[in-house]
Amino acid sequence: MKNADNDLNILRHSAAHLLAHAVSELFPGTKLTIGPATKEGFFYDFLPEKNFKEEDLELIAKRMSELAEKDYAIEHQEISKEEARKRYKDNPFKLELIEGIPGETVGLSTQGDFYDLCRGGHVSSTGKLKHFKLLNVSGSYWRADRQNQPLQRISGTAFPTAKELRTYEKRIEDAKKYDHRRLGKQLDLFSFHDEGPGFPFFHAKGMKVVQLLTDTLRKELEAGGYQEIATPTMLTDDLWRQSGHYAHYKDNMYFCEIEDRHFAIKPMNCPGSILIYKSRPHSYRELPIRYSEFGQVHRFELSGVLHGMFRARAFTIDDAHIYCTPDQLQSEIIAMIQLTMKILKRFEFEDINVMLSTRPENAMGSDELWQKATSALEDGLKAERVPYQIQEGEGAFYGPKIEFHIKDSMGRSWQCGTIQVDFFQPENFDLSYVAPSGKKERPVIIHRAIYGSLERFFGILVEHFKGNLPFWLSPIQMKIMTITDDQREYAQSVFEQLKSAGFRIEMDQTSDPISGKIKAAQLEKTPWMIVIGQKEMDNKTVTIRYRDGQQEFGITLDELIKKAREHNTIDK
Ligand SMILES: [Zn+2]
Ligand SMILES: [Zn+2]
Repeated sequence: MKNADNDLNILRHSAAHLLAHAVSELFPGTKLTIGPATKEGFFYDFLPEKNFKEEDLELIAKRMSELAEKDYAIEHQEISKEEARKRYKDNPFKLELIEGIPGETVGLSTQGDFYDLCRGGHVSSTGKLKHFKLLNVSGSYWRADRQNQPLQRISGTAFPTAKELRTYEKRIEDAKKYDHRRLGKQLDLFSFHDEGPGFPFFHAKGMKVVQLLTDTLRKELEAGGYQEIATPTMLTDDLWRQSGHYAHYKDNMYFCEIEDRHFAIKPMNCPGSILIYKSRPHSYRELPIRYSEFGQVHRFELSGVLHGMFRARAFTIDDAHIYCTPDQLQSEIIAMIQLTMKILKRFEFEDINVMLSTRPENAMGSDELWQKATSALEDGLKAERVPYQIQEGEGAFYGPKIEFHIKDSMGRSWQCGTIQVDFFQPENFDLSYVAPSGKKERPVIIHRAIYGSLERFFGILVEHFKGNLPFWLSPIQMKIMTITDDQREYAQSVFEQLKSAGFRIEMDQTSDPISGKIKAAQLEKTPWMIVIGQKEMDNKTVTIRYRDGQQEFGITLDELIKKAREHNTIDK
């Protein structure tokens, strides 16, 4: 039996050839490189004489449809490398590919008078490629290495039937409708500007949400015996060389120089935390030491892969580093799993799934230590009845880890929290504590985050709730509006009382008709509208109009405050 995924890959890879075919005709002189199928569709990387524009996609798609209509047979042949070199004498990318192919011949795929270097695996003719969609143009690099020639990538997707393509388009439309970048602007939460590409701007209301996210976590951290620290954004090169980031993570870091010393902007918070641990000797009596940090990190990302809050160049990790003895691993990890589940459950995700990654082949640390750490993670998950899957051998070389994956309201899965046991950095930085025997012993570090990136988590929440943030997390919880200006004074007194009860409220100051005021609050997705007319004023009550359009009449102020308090609780 044929594998359906493979078939889809073949179809999509063939569509990439069709794209290259159309581009070669429309933009002669464009150099072709590679065009693979991907999980979501396909792409082709080109070196055009002039950069493509978004508007070119329509033209290219039209030409692709015409070529599909012609139903050219797609034929594969093997040609000698010598002939291939001749054909591609002006294309250094293909020449490089030819050299990398073992043997004396290379594959060539032909459709009409177009040909492309390829090892094969295609649909039989271009007529099978009618249901495709070009998605975007972005920047890329030859062999995905930014030291190499910059290229232009056109991405698209293709399906066997028109119906499947339509379903896909519908899903894309929904995702667009609730895109956090769009909603973030509409709700005045955050924005992105060309002057800071990849760096989110938080508006006052968005900052309020961030504050609520951090406050709710800080309360738990305090109760859990954490101590909050803050470490510098810029640290010297030497530190990053020692930590190993320089060797393994250099391409994702930013560098700068001050007074002839070289610095890097931190891509992670661990080394800073370690320096604080090392700043004085520790006794076993102090352990575990739990340092938490809302640490902003910067990471280099190609502009083509930036995606609002989901993939930014600067973000804040709700980080923590726990320094403990091997015997304390178990209880520490159980507490972390409990805390992670407690926090994540506040956001009404359908499922929380956990992956446990175990010892890989090239691991460091003794069998006993790995055993201890892995069973601590596994026992913790069992104790909390969290469903989990084991990823055998997928752990980092320096320790096992667990990842928390959440499923949002649109069925998408996101990895957020992680708990990572680390035997390497304590060794690497020669960390110690004084054991009861008086001898120096090595602690273990546990790195953990719950939201992961605050920015990304915020973006996920906006899409998950389709902009309708829950009452407790809304920057403005209630908006007061009067039917006519006559009720202003009473409305003002309602405003004062709700404000002093601690709620986040706004007053609609416009003289618009009530329908206009309601419409504005709906666009802002304010959870409760407090509507006040003559009748409400006479009876000293209000009407609550909820976001879904339901209303409750004749609510006294005491009742309103009681109700709001019930909804404001975050400990579900
Ligand atoms: Zn091919
Ligand atoms: Zn860390």
